[in-house]
Amino acid sequence: MPQESSKRLVVVSNRLPASLKQVEGEWTVQPGSGGLVTAIAPVLKNRGGLWIGWSGGHGDVDLPKLLGDFSKDAGYDLHPVQLTEEEVRGYYYGFANEIIWPLFHDFQSRCNFDPSYWRDYLDVNLKFAEVTARYSRESDYIWVHDYHLMHLAFMLRNMGIQRSCGFFLHIPFPPPDIYLKLPWRDKILRALLEFDLVGFQTLRDRRNFVECMEALVPNAKCTGRGNMVTIEHQNRKIRAGGFPISIDFNQFASLSADKDVVRMADEFKDALRHRKIILGVDRLDYTKGIPQRLEAIRQLFIRFPDLREKVTFVQIAVPSREEIPEYHSLKVEIEQLVGEINGQFTRPGWIPIHYQYRNLPRPELVSYYRAADMALITPLRDGLNLVAKEYCAANVNENGVLFLSEFAGAAAQLQNAGAILVNPYDTEGVAKAIRRAYYMDKRERHTRMSKLRESVRRNNIYWWVDSFLQAAFSSQLEDFPQDTVDFQTESTST
Ligand code: UDP
Repeated sequence: MPQESSKRLVVVSNRLPASLKQVEGEWTVQPGSGGLVTAIAPVLKNRGGLWIGWSGGHGDVDLPKLLGDFSKDAGYDLHPVQLTEEEVRGYYYGFANEIIWPLFHDFQSRCNFDPSYWRDYLDVNLKFAEVTARYSRESDYIWVHDYHLMHLAFMLRNMGIQRSCGFFLHIPFPPPDIYLKLPWRDKILRALLEFDLVGFQTLRDRRNFVECMEALVPNAKCTGRGNMVTIEHQNRKIRAGGFPISIDFNQFASLSADKDVVRMADEFKDALRHRKIILGVDRLDYTKGIPQRLEAIRQLFIRFPDLREKVTFVQIAVPSREEIPEYHSLKVEIEQLVGEINGQFTRPGWIPIHYQYRNLPRPELVSYYRAADMALITPLRDGLNLVAKEYCAANVNENGVLFLSEFAGAAAQLQNAGAILVNPYDTEGVAKAIRRAYYMDKRERHTRMSKLRESVRRNNIYWWVDSFLQAAFSSQLEDFPQDTVDFQTESTST
């Protein structure tokens, strides 16, 4: 048996960390650039391992060959799970995006509890489990990511396959009064208890999970206090804890100092005539609170006419889930609001809101972070929110102000590190906070931002991977990363 700490790692997620693109008529595999891939790829290379996920479905390509070539370069293997269009519709667009996503973000009125989605979800989880069983060994550690695959360990155990399995939920876990609305609430909770370790973004999510478990699985017993707890259920011990995900701090900080990025940031400021820039960056999603944020900007200009022509709000909305009608109507709503507010306040030489609906290349995004005097990050609910951390990392001059919604997971970590917390529904309150920040002296801005940057630098994405794997491989609760998690402002009782 290999040592626990040198076990091979098998990562399973909905999508593979690479995408297929056609370049001059030839299909190629392009590596993903997200934080998760950046952090896990070196671990997979060092200890050996593989990544299993859906390839995104392109009927006419020789996938095994393409992925084989990619694996040789990457130093770890990729194994695709092939899904039919019908499965994608039911499992991904249906169960994941119309049930779990809205419910877990407290939007139960947006849920479509169609029973056929549940069956597709189970079928697809079984498919993922079969691929995992085929390519993994008993001595491997399986690390499953996110709400699409909550039944994976359950399916493996049903197939009689013994593997150590951990699960990380990237989105929030709701409190019992919301979770209990889920028609398949018992089955999902019991399926999660088939993992050996269940990780959440925050202590609050972990606590919600335990409260739901106590309501639905009365014979499960939870012991321990603080960040990590142990749950005893059917003669097994399961660990549950909070592990706030993070970013590659150095990558964002050094990109922000790159000369092309500095030039782009200067050009951006010139174009806006050196007015103060307030920046919002989000996928276009109803959880992100973009209409409420626009209303807060309207309030700012109504209540504080002294700030008209002094500040410009720049909103980047990244296209997302465009196939879903609700996302399209949200886009229309946002565009109407932007038009209305600009119509109300625009004067010659000043447009209050600059709105862009597109995906920015990373250097351009970082130049926006660098140029922005304030970042207005006000989701109505968010698992964590990486944009908040990226803004801090890229703010190398340490003079920016971060406004963060109380309902973003990152707030638990960053509220004592200098972020200004706001309630996104309180549009007047947000407007007042912006005005205070506009007149905030340079020293306070610097103190806040350097504290924020230190917090993100210390608890970066590598720290996150280490913390999770340390908890996964450790048998002693005392060994778990308790004090490295700086989100102790939440009460630490179970
Ligand atoms: N992002 C991007 N393209 C853009 C703007 C942002 O890829 O034009 C990235 C951003 O760098 C961040 C991610 O999208 O890493 C958003 O992550 P977050 O946790 O803030 O929200 P999510 O979209 O996962 O809900």
